[in-house]
Amino acid sequence: MSRGMNTLLVVNAGSSSLKFCVYSIDEASAPTLVARGQIDGIGTRPRLRARDAGGATLADQTFAAGEVADVAAALDRVGVWLRQKYARSNLVAVGHRVAHGGPRYSAPVLVDATVLTALERFVPLAPLHQPHHLRPMRTLAERYPGVVQVACFDTAFHRGHPEVADRYALPDDLYKEGVRRYGFHGLSYEYIARRLPAVAPDIARGAVVVCHLGSGSSMCAIKAGRSVDSTMGFTALDGLPMGTRCGQLDPGVVLYLLTEKGYSAKDVEQLLYQRAGLRGLSGISNDVRDLLASEDPRARLALDHFVYRVAREIGSLAAAMNGIDAVVFTAGIGENSPEIRARVCARSSWLGLDVDEAANRAGGPRISWPRAPVSAWVIPTDEEGMIAEHTLEAWRAHEGRRSHAHDGVPEPAA
Ligand code: AMP
Repeated sequence: MSRGMNTLLVVNAGSSSLKFCVYSIDEASAPTLVARGQIDGIGTRPRLRARDAGGATLADQTFAAGEVADVAAALDRVGVWLRQKYARSNLVAVGHRVAHGGPRYSAPVLVDATVLTALERFVPLAPLHQPHHLRPMRTLAERYPGVVQVACFDTAFHRGHPEVADRYALPDDLYKEGVRRYGFHGLSYEYIARRLPAVAPDIARGAVVVCHLGSGSSMCAIKAGRSVDSTMGFTALDGLPMGTRCGQLDPGVVLYLLTEKGYSAKDVEQLLYQRAGLRGLSGISNDVRDLLASEDPRARLALDHFVYRVAREIGSLAAAMNGIDAVVFTAGIGENSPEIRARVCARSSWLGLDVDEAANRAGGPRISWPRAPVSAWVIPTDEEGMIAEHTLEAWRAHEGRRSHAHDGVPEPAA
């Protein structure tokens, strides 16, 4: 990166890790990735690693547990590293991934004290993620009150769902207090929706089911570039089975665990988030690579179930859109596993999906035969890139307002 450049920082904080990306920005173009890194093992075995956009190692440092005891200390470490590495660059804004924007936020928002207070209220809606996402914002707001911060929500892209899709069949007071089908992975879906006109212009205005299949998995019905429904609902537990999360479950199972089996709420949470999904079903692994490599019938069952559920949801989301023009695969499994893609498409052949196996092995972008009535695609997602784009847009708008306000102030008389 040349010196003296303006940069953006994108932050994605977890319980014991802080992922970050650095982008350079200029007057006109989209943000350019400069470095991608993370501090993991916060409070236990902290380790800072970073790579440049080409994958070359820029940093690999370990620290004593007490040196990086919490997220605030991790942010400090990242700051120290950035100042050393890019000494004369100018950090103009920080974009944050935030799990939940509640019923209120349908677009990214500049962070101030009022917004932080509003986002705190959504902690009960995403107790495993939201507190970690808010912590770095609060730390930065306290230490660097001048820095522009932008919150980008996993729920925002889905806020335009029609009410019939947004509802559970529960009394209205619960809906009003926020028990709704929010949907997640919105930054990934929005990125894909923005890429479609360039990658697959024929389907960009059509009805597309995007399969975000990774350690967390969900699917989204996108019509004319807008989300109309998703397999995830109130929390990121719903819909497809995932690496360790259960996906769709009869709530009667939870009642049974609580009343008949003596589970506590914590026990249930642990089961549904950590001990279920591919791991629970196979008893072997949460990683599709391990399951594909295994001869164990339980591994086969877990993958069969996963493929079955993805294919079933393609039909369900096609019904939500009153038709389907294309299926897009993305995220760790969707981008890297030709076998899973082929199996999902084979189960969906009744819709008109027909995979060209050579194109599928090559990784796309188009993996269906040209004559197939419903096309299939592989498009790598980039959630951090989407946050960077939003952050740049919000920062430019903020700068525009500032200079406009400044223009309106009469100059003091000479
Ligand atoms: P993500 O959360 O999007 O980073 O996806 C991570 C998951 O992608 C891992 O847990 C693996 O199950 C899966 N994955 C990554 N590479 C492959 C691969 N080559 N074949 C199958 N699954 C893969």
